[in-house]
Amino acid sequence: MSIPLYPFAEPRSLPEPLRLVLLGATGSIGEQTLDLVRRFPDRLKLTAVAVNQRWEDLARLLGDLEPLVSVGDPAARDAAAGAGVFGDRLLPGADATALAAAAEGDVLVNGIVGAAGLAPTLAAAARGWRIALANKESLVVGGNLVSAAVIAGGAEMLPVDSEHSALAQCLRGRRREDLDRVVLTASGGPFRETPAHQLANVTLEEVLNHPTWDMGPKITVDSATLMNKGLEIIEAHHLFGLDYADIDVVVHPGSWVHSLVVLRDGALLAQLGMPDMRLPLLYAITGEQRWPLPGERLDLLEVGRLEFEAPDTERFPCLRLAREAGEKGGTAPITLNAANEVAVAALLDRRILYADLPGLVSSALDRLPAAPVADLQAALAADGEARRVTLELLTDHDGTPTLRGNL
Ligand code: MG
Repeated sequence: MSIPLYPFAEPRSLPEPLRLVLLGATGSIGEQTLDLVRRFPDRLKLTAVAVNQRWEDLARLLGDLEPLVSVGDPAARDAAAGAGVFGDRLLPGADATALAAAAEGDVLVNGIVGAAGLAPTLAAAARGWRIALANKESLVVGGNLVSAAVIAGGAEMLPVDSEHSALAQCLRGRRREDLDRVVLTASGGPFRETPAHQLANVTLEEVLNHPTWDMGPKITVDSATLMNKGLEIIEAHHLFGLDYADIDVVVHPGSWVHSLVVLRDGALLAQLGMPDMRLPLLYAITGEQRWPLPGERLDLLEVGRLEFEAPDTERFPCLRLAREAGEKGGTAPITLNAANEVAVAALLDRRILYADLPGLVSSALDRLPAAPVADLQAALAADGEARRVTLELLTDHDGTPTLRGNL
């Protein structure tokens, strides 16, 4: 099942100001959404925001903006209430999902990191909102559930991910039958040219040094392993109703071409621009309104040439693991994602090395055979089980030099 409302159909025309509910307000997507709210004060109204813990950062980022505030973590919420910085705008006992179910809004910007973003996406879908989805894990973990909820709720789903935004922009208004395949571009990450034998020795600092995009730590690690591109294959499958065989990946180090579609007559359509997340974010929030966004423009003469190369799934096995998990379906992508979230946290904690991560994910997938997913409870149960198994593998791993033998 796929989401049929977008991009092939026209986005709705919504009255201005658009009322925004922002989840994950202190993350990279959250900060850039707040930048857009400040740039378009008459056209965007921030009605509610949610963070998990970082209420002090939120207070600083909000400045004179005065939305309702949800702090998900109970201890952090108590601390925020004690400090009194949000006054009576701090909601008692409401997490991001409760906020999405109850706040006034037209558009949900879901900038939550990880599988925790799924339940709020479903809540917004049930309300018939436009969902500007930066949380690709919603689709990786709950793809079929989200599709069904978007259709049942009469909602709209617009991707914030730059690649999927590019695809949406190229596909808008086209007929489904005219589409042959899509091509996702990948920067290749910081280790695009690193020989296989040197990957065992890369440092966390090198992992976090992304060549083209400035993003949060989780997605930056995912970009270095190419797991991010693997998750994006699964995301594209659900968003556009594509067979996995019709989703290609090419490495494009400059990140100027954000992705391409191939039509059945052989035409390739691409969307190009600066690697600036505000562009796909504004597109997703406004639904092709093309509001004037100041910023650096892509200078083709400065770029000079566009380079492409094939991805190397030997050096970057996560790309292959993700595609295989997507093809298996059911709980397989849930396990992949949960194992990866646990592994990324362990890498950021310096508990494992970069080179250990694919083996950890692969071992979790081996331990947990794919099973069908009927509902949100089943998805969350599979997510919890995969986290438990991966933590177990991690405990076994502590003290051993590498997990690469598992691949
Ligand atoms: Mg992306």
